Amino acid sequence: MKFFFPDAQDMIYPEYDFLHDEYPAHRVRQRDDRYAHEVLKPVPYDGMLISKAIIDGVGNAVGKYSQAQRDRLYRRGGKSFFRLPDGLELLGDCGAFSYVKEDVPPVTVTEVLDFYEACGCDAGISIDHLILDFESGAPLFDADPDWSRRRSISLDLAASFKEEAERRNSSVEPVGAAQGWSPESYADSVTALQDMGYRRIALGGMVPLKTNQILETLDAVALVLKPDTNLHLLGVARPEVMDDFAERGVSSFDSTSPFRQAFMDDRKNYHTATGAYVAIRVPQVDGNARLKRRILAGEVDQAEAIRVERECLRRLRAFDQGQMTSNDVLASLLEYETLLEPDKKSYVQGYEKMLGDAPWKRCTCTLCQTHGIEIAIFRGTERNKRRGFHNIAVLSGKIPGRRPTKKGVVE
Ligand SMILES: [Zn+2]
Repeated sequence: MKFFFPDAQDMIYPEYDFLHDEYPAHRVRQRDDRYAHEVLKPVPYDGMLISKAIIDGVGNAVGKYSQAQRDRLYRRGGKSFFRLPDGLELLGDCGAFSYVKEDVPPVTVTEVLDFYEACGCDAGISIDHLILDFESGAPLFDADPDWSRRRSISLDLAASFKEEAERRNSSVEPVGAAQGWSPESYADSVTALQDMGYRRIALGGMVPLKTNQILETLDAVALVLKPDTNLHLLGVARPEVMDDFAERGVSSFDSTSPFRQAFMDDRKNYHTATGAYVAIRVPQVDGNARLKRRILAGEVDQAEAIRVERECLRRLRAFDQGQMTSNDVLASLLEYETLLEPDKKSYVQGYEKMLGDAPWKRCTCTLCQTHGIEIAIFRGTERNKRRGFHNIAVLSGKIPGRRPTKKGVVE
């Protein structure tokens, strides 16, 4: 099964100075920064998913790229811009979530195909309109009129998209987007797309679904799926059921969730083959808005806060070198936590488990091997994104066909 990592300009700066927490003055963003596929060996995914909503902005949604970055991407093409190794695929998408609230998608087939071609995509997904509800038993006909309308829009646009790609003899392989609100309606969309000639179909709108709802839908789709049709799950990674997905005809998926959990999740920040750990919070005194307020209000002494922050880092690093017990580290972490968030539930139990198991010492990913305990510390974008990249490597190891053998070589 193939894994696509969605681009949201997530990079790390390889020469970042962890001891002083600073960048050199000569760093140029993007050019000197590195993508996950440039720092992890083996490369943990088979391609990148790029979104028109993120690069150009769609409708009222503003993109994440500056005009200069966009120009450079179009001038050089996506493969060169992203510095993708040979063999990695570029898959284009509209980013339907950015216009979910609008009546109709605010993009045309021509604009989208132009975008995919300008970016040098190998394949591109037709324009779709998300249906955010799911009801297993809802009828195919006489369902909520807005659901039916959105599904019809998606299918009509898929038909025009394929026609336009063929008319242009485009180098972009068209991928049909299937929307639905039930197993039956998804299966019906897949049938319609196959009738249009699509042999690569992306199932959209599944991000909020429970795993059993996805499996139920895939069961219904499997009944109509032609043997040579490839299914892609948009935005969905459920490591615990990857084999079940594969058995039901899923041949690829994309997801940012393991990456984002590294710094967005309250607890599951550092992933392993069998579970997850809470990352150790040592926020920067001068980067923490809440702490700044408490300092200004006279509740916290700034010099004292900086002293405890530095002591936490010093002890964590000493622990990693085998020169400090975990109890001594935990004492400092508790002191800092009490200073920062006296009213919040403590993370210290989670830290105890993290330090006790020290999972970064056993991890074979390039980043844990290089940076040790820094990966386990929740602090600033360079550590947090490295932990996110580590999580991608861990996810990669759970994908059928990508699981590493004991020697660390992909099967
Ligand atoms: Zn790692």
